[in-house]
Amino acid sequence: MSHSHAIELNQVHKYYGEHHVLRGIDLNVEPGEVVSIIGGSGSGKSTLLRCINFLEEYSSGEILVKGQVIGYGSKPAGESYRLPEKVIRESLRDVCMVFQQFNLWPHMTVIDNVASPLRLVKGVSRPLAREKAMGQLERVGMAHKADAYPGQLSGGQQQRVAIARALTMEPSIMLFDEPTSALDPELVGEVLGVIRDLAQAGMTMVIVTHEMGFAARVSDRVVFLAEGLIEEQGAPEQLFQAPKSLRLQQFLASWNERQSGSSLPAGIAVAQEVEA
Ligand code: ADP
Ligand code: MG
Repeated sequence: MSHSHAIELNQVHKYYGEHHVLRGIDLNVEPGEVVSIIGGSGSGKSTLLRCINFLEEYSSGEILVKGQVIGYGSKPAGESYRLPEKVIRESLRDVCMVFQQFNLWPHMTVIDNVASPLRLVKGVSRPLAREKAMGQLERVGMAHKADAYPGQLSGGQQQRVAIARALTMEPSIMLFDEPTSALDPELVGEVLGVIRDLAQAGMTMVIVTHEMGFAARVSDRVVFLAEGLIEEQGAPEQLFQAPKSLRLQQFLASWNERQSGSSLPAGIAVAQEVEA
C-alpha cells in the first residue's frame, strides 16, 4: 500500500453563499505531526478544521484522511456525490475535534460525560466504557473529579474533561479549535500541558491557537492563514523569527504588542518564549 498522509487537502475551497472563505488550500499533515494554524479573526481557521471533520461541506477540491476522501464519492462519469452520513462518520472515526466551548452535558457527571460517546457511538458496555473513561481522565489529571458535575469545575478542568472525552474514542488525529480561548489566563497552562503531552505521545494534531509561545514550542510546523489562503508556513523558528510575508510580520507585531504593551519587532517576544 502506498504511503498516505494523515490529512491531505488539495485545492480546497469553501463558500458560504457568495462569501469565498477558503480560497484554495493545499495542506498535508503527516502521521505524528503537530501543525498549528495561526491567523487573524475571520481568516478561515475554524472553517478549515470544520471542513476536515466534515462539520461543514467543502465546496470544491478534495480532503483526504488517511488516504480516504472525506464526504464525497465519484460516479463512473466523474461527477461527485455526497456520501451517506454513516459512511462519512466511519471514514472520520480516527478524527476527534475539541472546541473552544467544551460542550459538556451539564446534567451528567464527568465520568458519564466521558463514557457516553463510547456507549452511544461505539456501543461499548457501561462498565467497560466507564473503565476506559477513567483511564483517560487519569491521563488528563481529572480522575479525582469523576463524580463531579461540569458546573462544579473550572473552565480549564472542563476543557481537560472534554479532551478526555475525545481521547476515549481513541483517535489518531485530534483537531483543536482555540482550545484555550474561553479560559481565564491562569487556566490556560493546564490545558496546554495536556495537549503538549499528547504531542509527545505522537498524536497527529492540527491546533488553531492564539498562543504563539505554545505553538512555537509544540509544533513541527506552523501555518499562517490569511483571507482563506496559506500565506506562509514553516518550522516555528523560521515562521516566528524570520517571517517572510509582510502580512505575517504585521500579524506577529500586533500580537507582540498586545502581549507586552511594547512594540518590539515581530519575532522577538516569541523568540524569548521559545527559550523559556
Ligand atoms: P476564523 O476561525 O479564522 O476566525 P472562520 O472560519 O470562523 O474564521 O470564518 C471565516 C469567515 O467565514 C468569516 O468571515 C465568517 O464570518 C464566515 N463564516 C463562518 N461560518 C459561517 C457560516 N456558518 N455562515 C456564513 N458565514 C460564515
Ligand atoms: Mg475560529
